[in-house]
Amino acid sequence: MESEMRFENQVAIVTGAGRGIGRAIALRFANEGARLACVSRTEENANTVADQINGMRSDAAKAYAVDVADHAAVQKVGARILDDFARADILVNNAGVTRDALAMRMSLEDWDAVMNTNLRGAFSFTQAIVRAMTKQRSGRIINISSVIGLMGNAGQTNYAASKAGLIGLTKSLARELASRNITVNAVAPGFVTTDMTAGLSDEIKNTIHAKIPLGRTATPEDISSAVTFLASAEAGYITGQVLCVDGGIVM
Ligand code: NAP
Repeated sequence: MESEMRFENQVAIVTGAGRGIGRAIALRFANEGARLACVSRTEENANTVADQINGMRSDAAKAYAVDVADHAAVQKVGARILDDFARADILVNNAGVTRDALAMRMSLEDWDAVMNTNLRGAFSFTQAIVRAMTKQRSGRIINISSVIGLMGNAGQTNYAASKAGLIGLTKSLARELASRNITVNAVAPGFVTTDMTAGLSDEIKNTIHAKIPLGRTATPEDISSAVTFLASAEAGYITGQVLCVDGGIVM
């Protein structure tokens, strides 16, 4: 199938682009004509995806290694991205981690690590980029939440709180930025086959499968389809929404 070029002349920034869902999102935007800032914690992973994109289209991507939980470092990387690309049309806050434990036993360190990466990281990256979008009077911000942020999950109080927090962040930002023609939405994936879920036991995987009406887990491409839709011109009248891409788990 010939890909549409919905994002020609646009710059997309994707955090957590080194692996899994973020990588699929970056490749999808690149396939549809965007130039990419590929952000990951590990330099090697960021470089690999940027190299892959540049192999398809020369000078289409640059790699940036940063820990999104480091607010000061994120501001610096954001400024470098704006320097390198001279604009920012799309920001996808996708970087995320899990550190599961029952609340009774969860360390404060694990609580903070998940909150600071998943929730505060999205806030920090938005602060680094949003001024450029307001000056352009256009932009798209898409936050990758999770169905766990809507439903909760035993053993994931930190993760669920961070993903529910992203929904509050999304709706408040959508209200703040609407007058500047910037839309802000969240995508809430269900169970996606990536490194994040690879370590789960077969027993847990089977229990999850049984709860998915469509009867299969998601691929990273299922998620990138929703993200590119929300970033496209066709979604220009959609803001402050949470789009579940979960095979029907939440309805
Ligand atoms: P993954 O395969 O574990 O990849 C996570 C990505 O985030 C990696 O590229 C990683 O960087 C990056 N990252 C993690 N911590 C970071 C930090 N502090 N600073 C910068 N980058 C960081 O995860 P995934 O399954 O693709 O998940 C992507 C997003 O979707 C997450 O927000 C996750 O919560 C959400 N989600 C996933 C599922 C699922 O079933 N998989 C379901 C719902 C929501 P490195 O590669 O450099 O380590």
